[in-house]
Order: sequence, then structure tokens, then C-alpha cells
Amino acid sequence: FLVMSSTPAAADGYVKYKDPKQPINERVDDLLSRMTLGEDRADVADREGQRHHHRHPEVLRRVLSGGGSVPSDKATASTWQKMVTQMQKAALKTRLGIPIIYGIDAVHGNNNVYNATIFPHNVGLGATRDPNLVKKIGEATAHEARATGIPYTFAPCVAVCRDPRWGRCYESYSEDTRLVQLMTSNMVTGLQGDVPAKHPKGVPFVGGSKKVAGCAKHFVGDGGTTRGLNENNTVLSFHDLMRIHMPPYDNAVIKGISTIMISYSSWNGIKMHENKFLITETLKNKMNFRGFVITDWQAVDRITTPPHKHYYHSIEETIHAGIDMVMIPYDYPEFAADLVSQVKKGQIKLDRINDAVSRILRVKFTMGLFEDPLPDPRLAKELGAQEHRAVAREAVRKSLVLLKNGKKGEPMLPLAKKAKKILVAGSHAHNLGYQCGGWTATWQGESGNNVTGVGKTILEAVKSAVDNDTAVEYAEKPDKEDIQKAGDYDYAIVAVGEAPYAETAGDNQNLTIPDPGEKVIKDVCGLVKCVVLIVSGRPLVVEPYVDYMDALVAAWLPGTEGQGITDVLFGDYGFTGKLPRTWFKSVDQLPMNYGDKRYNPLFPFGYGLTTKGTTSQN
Ligand code: BGC
Repeated sequence: FLVMSSTPAAADGYVKYKDPKQPINERVDDLLSRMTLGEDRADVADREGQRHHHRHPEVLRRVLSGGGSVPSDKATASTWQKMVTQMQKAALKTRLGIPIIYGIDAVHGNNNVYNATIFPHNVGLGATRDPNLVKKIGEATAHEARATGIPYTFAPCVAVCRDPRWGRCYESYSEDTRLVQLMTSNMVTGLQGDVPAKHPKGVPFVGGSKKVAGCAKHFVGDGGTTRGLNENNTVLSFHDLMRIHMPPYDNAVIKGISTIMISYSSWNGIKMHENKFLITETLKNKMNFRGFVITDWQAVDRITTPPHKHYYHSIEETIHAGIDMVMIPYDYPEFAADLVSQVKKGQIKLDRINDAVSRILRVKFTMGLFEDPLPDPRLAKELGAQEHRAVAREAVRKSLVLLKNGKKGEPMLPLAKKAKKILVAGSHAHNLGYQCGGWTATWQGESGNNVTGVGKTILEAVKSAVDNDTAVEYAEKPDKEDIQKAGDYDYAIVAVGEAPYAETAGDNQNLTIPDPGEKVIKDVCGLVKCVVLIVSGRPLVVEPYVDYMDALVAAWLPGTEGQGITDVLFGDYGFTGKLPRTWFKSVDQLPMNYGDKRYNPLFPFGYGLTTKGTTSQN
């Protein structure tokens, strides 16, 4: 089934779309004119959303056409490169030699890969208030993704989380639209490179083979659902949707974002994936976005609004709404056949398919994938590189928010490095997996110190920060008796918080400190002078325990570089972080955001005490 006659090859074998000197639009048009609907276009539009090892290795195996291997959890950068190379070579052997674009969730560093540098999750970056640092993190993440041969990440998440009960709140920089906008611009620039002066708004940009294509997600209103229920319904006027949730997309589009992912959630009862008004008329036509729109994971399967109960109709509905690439159609051959048949019947216009394919090709040409389709072995050494870890450590330092410092006007922090005996306690004091949170090693994150090959736990960081003759004792779940038996401690560092989670698994209507965190706080802080670190993706209920604590620090989900925490606790650097979210007293107050009429938080948005450090912060 040929839609357009193929362009005959020039006598000298010159193929226009392969010529990097040609303008991108002409290369796109030339290649499009050579593509058939069934053979290539359905393929491009729908097949290569992403390969998701940890969740669906079988999808990957299928893509490899029966050959190749899937990296094991502890695979090195070069094993990953090998796998991407195999897939890419298979793609290049097809009739038109169109390279695939392989995407992965590198959302706080290249977090699926062992040995990668893990940066603080976005909520912590919001606390830094440091856009240049966020740009550096984007650059480092791009390098670590390229180290494994991956040219595309499903990041940044530009959600404006309005309710911390949402399981994805930590993927959001802030409840404040303007702060999310600022961080979005800088993360996109870090990942993709600086758009040149006078770059036309909306045209995708990726500055070379050390940069990656980014993906702003999840369009739009994902952070505004009722009670923070994941993938649920955001009930808002158009005015408020545009005012609160849309602005970061404008920043991403201005910075040349390559792709935008649609949210599973609905807006006023209509699934975002079928919302033509927002996807096509607003994002593409009004905001002039020229990159491609991708579905979320198997999202087409989830459009069940009557009368579209059948997958066949969901395809029609979503493509019609403006989807350009489908991530993981449930059954690829059937999907392609359905799509082709709908175009033949006129249910989906060929122009719509051509638009989708042109957008995908535009991104691939822009990225230089046709010229440089294969991973660069020289980049493998970028994974977990010292410079990246230094950036991560700086980010941890700046992300910490000091909420309480001392009792009765006597500051507790900074801590003395020289002490007789100190106690480090709590579930989060010696657990790198807990420090990193969800989207680390695996989708849901993991517990334990083997999630990544680099980094230091809080306990390890304390040990390397204090003087040699300071005794450091560690207890995960100490109680009163243990402490009484052990005798005098100069002070205790208690780290408690949330165990890792991702997406719906993180939805939580209580937001209490998980067991036995509250007891540990009471037992330890009742007897020993203590600083409590809350390691979590969001504010938790701490009000009933604050009086027990001598000092309280929000550490968010800091990632691998635990030394960033001790740099500040021990006063080498000062505390500078500011709350990116309102710290509520009780969940009955939620949702409660800065600027609301009834605003009565424990600590307001923007709060954060400071201390002086002996080293300058920049
Ligand atoms: C998430 C996206 C993610 C995608 C691919 C989905 O479940 O909602 O944020 O990019 O999976 O892993």
C-alpha cells in the first residue's frame, strides 16, 4: 500500500535526506516521500517509543528481532552500548535506514544504570533555588545517558504538584508555578544544550552527540488531581489550568524541548490522551510546539471513555487528538494493521500521519541521529564520573532545608566534628536505596546499599567527616534502653523517612513518618541532643514530634552523595535551601498551597533557616 509514489533514486545515487547539508525540513519531506504507510510510517509513528528493561524486557527482546541480549541489573556502560548498537544496526539495515530513538527514564541522573551518579530528585532541586546548578545536573545526566548509548530521556517532569499526597510529588520541583518554570528552562537547556539566539520558538533543538533529547511531562495538570490521586482527574477551570499547570510547558517549548509526554490523568473528566483541544489546538497550534508528542506507557490501552471502549477506537481517538508516537502499543503488528486500516478507511487522515512522522523525523535529524546513530565508546567513562558526583554533592548541600535549629535560642548546628561519642540512628541512616528513592535501579526503587556502585550513605559520610578519635555508633532502630545502656552520647543524628516508591504506589493519604520512625525520634531525642533528618519525597507529619527535636532538616531524596549532607551538618558549608513546598501541620489541611486563603502551615513555602559555613557555597 503506497501512499505516495516513491521518489526515484538520483542517477548518481545521491539521496537528499541523507545529506546533512540540506535543511532539516527538506530532509524530512524527502524521506517522508519515500515512505510507505504500512511498511514505514506506522513503524515510525508507533513502534519505537521506548524500551523498558526493568519492566518489560520481552518488549526489548522483540525489538532485537530475536537476537541480542538485555543488560543485567549491574551491567556496565559498555554492555548497554552494545545493546543499543545491536538495535540500531538492525534499524539501519531496513530499506530506508531510519535510526531508532531509544528512550529511558533518566529522571535524576541515569538512574536505571549501576554506577551512575544519582542526583537529588526534583523536589530537592526546587529547594536549592539554583537554576545554574540544575542546568549542570542536566548536562551531567545527558553525559551519563550517552555513556550508555542512550540519546533520549523522559525528563524533566514539569508537574506542579499541588497536593503532596500524590505519589509523584518528589518528581515535581515545586508547588509554585514560577519555580517550576525556572527549573524547567534550565533542566531542558542542560539536557539538550542552549538554543541558539533567535531560535524559532517551538522548533526542537539538541546540541550535538553529547546532549540528549528531552521530554517534558506529563501534559498537563498531572500535579493537580483530586486528593493527589495518581492518574486521576484534575478539576479546574481552563483559566486555572493555564495559570497553574501550563506555564512550564511554555518554558520547555521556548528552550527547544524535543518531545512532550501526555499525562494519564484527565482534565474535568476527559482523558488527556484524547484531548485534541489541549494537545493540538493549544500545545501544537497556539504554543507552536514542533517536536513530537508521545503517549505515556501503554496509555492508548487506557482510553475507555464511552463509546471508545475498544482499542481500535482508542487508536483513532488518540492519533486524532494529536499523538505522534505511541509508547508500547499492546501488540505491535495488530496496532500497525489497525492504524493502516483506519487511514485506508479515511477515519484517520493521511495528513495527520504525515504530520506525526515529520515531527519524529525532525527530532531525529535535529539530534544528528542519521549522521551519528551509534553509541560512542569514548563516552563510557562518563558514567559516575568524579565531576558529576561533585555536582551532585553540591546539589545535596544546597537542597537541605533547615527547619529548626536548637532549643531556647541555643543553636545545635553546625555539629562538632570532635566529640567523644555520637550516635547515628534510623532506617535512613545507612541505606543508599532509601536515600535515592523511586526510579533508582528499578522503577519502584530499592532498599539497601547495593543499588548503585557509587556514593556514600549518611553514616559513611558522618564517619568520614568527624575527627579520627570521635567514636561513631550506629543503630537502625534503637530504643530508650539501648541508649541508656550505651551511656552518654554527645549528640545523635537521626535519619528517618519514606521507603522508595514510584507513581501510584506512592499515593498516600496519611503522610505520617513510617514505622518505627516516630518511636525512634521520641526514644532517641528524649535522651540525647539530636538532629533529625527527614529523608522523603515530600513533607511528612512532624508537628507532634518537633518539640522532641533539637534540630530538624528536610533532606528530600538526596541520591548517592551523602557527603553533601555532612558538608552542611558539620559546617563546612552553610544551610541555604528554602522550602519548595508548604510544610503542613496535618493532612486535614490538604491541599494547601502558598497563596491560598486559609494558609496556616507548620513551615511556609520559602522557609529555611541559614547557618554560616567555613567554605563558600559556589
Ligand atoms: C510514567 C512515565 C514514564 C513512563 C516510561 C510511565 O508509567 O508515567 O513518567 O516516563 O512510564 O517509563
